[in-house]
Amino acid sequence: MMDDLNALLKAHGLSEMPKVLLAAAECAPLSKTGGLADVVGALPKALKKLGVDARVITPYHRCIKEKYFEKTEHVVDFRIWLGWRNAYVGIERLDVDGVTVYLVDNEDYFGRDIYLGGNMEGEQYSYFTRAVLEALPKLDFQPDVIHCNDWHTAMLPMLAHTQYRGGIQDRVKYLLTIHNIAFQGRFDFGFVQDMFNVDPCYYTPEFIELHGCADYLKAGCVFADRINTVSPSYASEIKTPYYAEGLEGILNARHAVLTGILNGIDRDFFNPETDPNLRQNYGVSDYAAGKAACKRWLQKSMGLEVREDVPLFCMVTRMTEQKGFDLVACVLDDMMCREDMQLMLLGTGDERFEKFMAAAENRYPGKLCSYIGYKEELSHQVYAAGDFFLMPSRFEPCGLSQMIAMRYGTVPIVRETGGLQDTVIPYNRFHEEGDGFSFANFDAWEMRDAMRLAMACYKDKEIMDGLIGRAMRKNFGFEKSAAEYARHYIWML
Ligand code: ADP
Repeated sequence: MMDDLNALLKAHGLSEMPKVLLAAAECAPLSKTGGLADVVGALPKALKKLGVDARVITPYHRCIKEKYFEKTEHVVDFRIWLGWRNAYVGIERLDVDGVTVYLVDNEDYFGRDIYLGGNMEGEQYSYFTRAVLEALPKLDFQPDVIHCNDWHTAMLPMLAHTQYRGGIQDRVKYLLTIHNIAFQGRFDFGFVQDMFNVDPCYYTPEFIELHGCADYLKAGCVFADRINTVSPSYASEIKTPYYAEGLEGILNARHAVLTGILNGIDRDFFNPETDPNLRQNYGVSDYAAGKAACKRWLQKSMGLEVREDVPLFCMVTRMTEQKGFDLVACVLDDMMCREDMQLMLLGTGDERFEKFMAAAENRYPGKLCSYIGYKEELSHQVYAAGDFFLMPSRFEPCGLSQMIAMRYGTVPIVRETGGLQDTVIPYNRFHEEGDGFSFANFDAWEMRDAMRLAMACYKDKEIMDGLIGRAMRKNFGFEKSAAEYARHYIWML
């Protein structure tokens, strides 16, 4: 891997690896609401191993301040203009497992939740964007590439190239990673004017206008030097209207610089051999006893019937339409009444799904547990205890949960879309291949059939051993993704 990268460096006439600053709204383990944080946490660590000096800039959210205040070191503070607002910016530095994280401090914007919703969220991250641009010349680090993530940081290249001409903000290169195209940051133009004083000539369909709004993610797609999304299949899908949410035009126009790089997981953090949250640790060679102990413990503590012979299906998810929750709702009663199975759900999300699952738990005591909430430790316990992991997403940019589940020997059942299609090989009984089950259409009965096939296989120890072994041995480490990102950074210079 290193040899390839060194050859590429040489071919581009470069003597050293690019310096990279990742800008993102959340970063694990400091702040997290979903997969984005996992990626922003794991990528710089993996890049460092390849010799890339990768650092992170992220808001100093309340949840970070509460836990890490003592460990931060003040770098600089100054004030910026956000429209008519004159706001304080503090830059604090924190070392997280050898990675330097710059924290943008402002109590007004980051003293509450990570995402405030609506126009408040627009203002929160417009402030963050302006703060990053103004902080660049003041940092003890001059990046070659700024790696933007999702709409929250997607205005960086446009503002840099239109309002900082000739400055270091304008000279660096920008990579935009789309983690989920469903969230674009759309606001009326007056709002964006108020935030950034954008020249009205950019409020056209060639630039940032979409469906009568100013669209932050579109601005990123227009102005970034390169664009990537988090799996090859999703990179193809978002060039079509069904998945692109209105951005298919610009993404087709920029197809030459649009690629898919599959995410990975932090294999040290998600490691059943060492995970301190598990009742009993296990590896691929002795998973049977370890998983059985974890399953027993989870069944007991979650009020499920303690039985080894019943297949335990798990979900760790945001409960939204994206994650296919409506399919689960369609067939839940049918499955619960007819099948000898258990379902453990851990997650939060849309109120209607939360209520539906809480009510279902009362209908099927001992068979179904809905834990409405999210706890990192419990999620690990669920990943380890399950026999099957259900992820019937309507669309899935990459998906980390199925990879984590496989690492813990829990066989995934997924819909063939985006990253799910790129990471799960469906079981093939003729060739004894595959590490999961899948179905093609977004259809509740197709999902039910896939679950039934899984239950049939559950009765055959040899088949299950094969599936679990192949799933656990699969390498979803971040090294491959990091090398691919490093290649992208070099291409841009
Ligand atoms: P997402 O679309 O939510 O980012 P991914 O599969 O890419 O889905 O990432 C899942 C990551 O988020 C995993 O680490 C998982 O444990 C965590 N996660 C799942 N559900 C929730 C939730 N309701 N709240 C917070 N984190 C969650």
